[in-house]
Amino acid sequence: MYKIFRSEKNEDDCRVDAAARLGFHSALMSKDVSTARMEKIVSLCKRRGFIFQSSEIYGGLNGFWDYGPLGVELKKNLKDFWWRRNVRERDDMEGMDGSIIMNRAIWKASGHEETFSDPMVDCKACNSRNRADQLPEKDGKKFCPACGSRDLTEARDFNLMFKSHAGPLESEDNLVYLRPETAQAIFVNFRNVLDTSRQKLPFGIAQIGKAFRNEINPRNYIFRSREFEQMEIEYFCRPEDGMQLTDYWLEQRLKFYEDIGIPRSKIHINDIPDGERAFYSKKTYDLEYEFPFGVSELEGIAYRTDYDLGKHIEHSGKPLDYFDEATKERFVPHVVEPSAGVDRTTLALLCEAFDEETVTDEKGNSETRTVLRFHPRMAPIKCGIFPLLKNKPALVEKAKEIAATLRPIMNVFYDEGGAIGRRYRRQDEAGTPFCVTIDFDTIGENGPEKLDTVTLRHRDSMAQERMAIADLKNYLVEKIS
Ligand code: ATP
Repeated sequence: MYKIFRSEKNEDDCRVDAAARLGFHSALMSKDVSTARMEKIVSLCKRRGFIFQSSEIYGGLNGFWDYGPLGVELKKNLKDFWWRRNVRERDDMEGMDGSIIMNRAIWKASGHEETFSDPMVDCKACNSRNRADQLPEKDGKKFCPACGSRDLTEARDFNLMFKSHAGPLESEDNLVYLRPETAQAIFVNFRNVLDTSRQKLPFGIAQIGKAFRNEINPRNYIFRSREFEQMEIEYFCRPEDGMQLTDYWLEQRLKFYEDIGIPRSKIHINDIPDGERAFYSKKTYDLEYEFPFGVSELEGIAYRTDYDLGKHIEHSGKPLDYFDEATKERFVPHVVEPSAGVDRTTLALLCEAFDEETVTDEKGNSETRTVLRFHPRMAPIKCGIFPLLKNKPALVEKAKEIAATLRPIMNVFYDEGGAIGRRYRRQDEAGTPFCVTIDFDTIGENGPEKLDTVTLRHRDSMAQERMAIADLKNYLVEKIS
């Protein structure tokens, strides 16, 4: 998306307070509720190993994040399901994986070198730099979110592409950029994929990969960072089919979010009006999610016409057009682009899953249960496996045996430490949908009826049922696939 052509909705609510520490800007719920919820999610993510600040032991680096053991599984499940849905389950889609650094000519042709900018202002009082279109405002006057001063410079364009040099010389000739989007690698490989896959229009090329933008103000946790991942599709078609396919992809993408546990009711479809879209786009939908800090973009679905291929034909001189065998026509395909953010969707999954409820234990004491209610196919750990007692070798052996059968198919967590109730709670916080307890019934100590059965405990209802070990694998596979 060409930043210069679009302005982001102002998510700020003018107040500057403790929330700024985490970079949260609320527009939807009351400030206190939304900030408190977001802070709880951030703290859980750190405590349970979903997300860490990058370079933390050296004070961090603004706009960069690391995914820990649970976070990487969650993100991987999301990417794998996107790939499965959009590539493997479709005849009309091919995948690819382009390089992050590409010939600079690509970014000249696409217009990024000239126009991939956000408007930036400096605060003359404290020297902080901010995106002009995201400045808080009071009584019709913008002010600096860091110190409150109204003494600001005029806005000027700041190009968001990170620069580097390929090779040992740091000269203008070997200047390269870290890609700010994955899409261009698809456009410049259009002919390669077409020739090698023998696809016919309409067909798409899909890619998941890192993108880098030197955002002026990274904020809202992993929502706006400087290094992130995108899941992008370029769906090539005949010009007359572009509008209708844009609506088709809107429906597909809404269905996808539903299938990962983000209900339609939480997604706002922003049909970008004429005059606010990029000039080459005939239709653009932004899909926005109700984050605790405000309704904000998850994905853009843009009908980009023949703009991108046209530009690369013009600049490279190569024939990136299409010959239709049936009609004997030669033309430049149009393209519909559903472009989603991995990190923003991961954040939406976390926000959607996070829940706290009051539960009462057997002794009548109430406590707060923190639970991540992930859809089982997204959950980082699918099943917790617990021997009732760790000092009973027969229980431990059986539990390890069950874990070993499940491990090749799913991520399981073997835990023998502490009371069973506490082990369940730990898995609730990790979002594990199922836990299996191996007890004395399992090993036949209380008679043959329950031999080789286990207790299966459900995360959301906390209900427990008895299940034969022989049925366990199929049951879990059906739930998580
Ligand atoms: P925004 O207006 O929020 O900056 P955009 O419209 O420029 O986003 P696109 O260029 O359309 O975004 O990129 C497609 C997707 O990539 C976005 O919908 C978002 O999910 C993701 N994305 C873009 N910029 C970032 C970022 N800085 N951090 C995390 N994800 C991002």
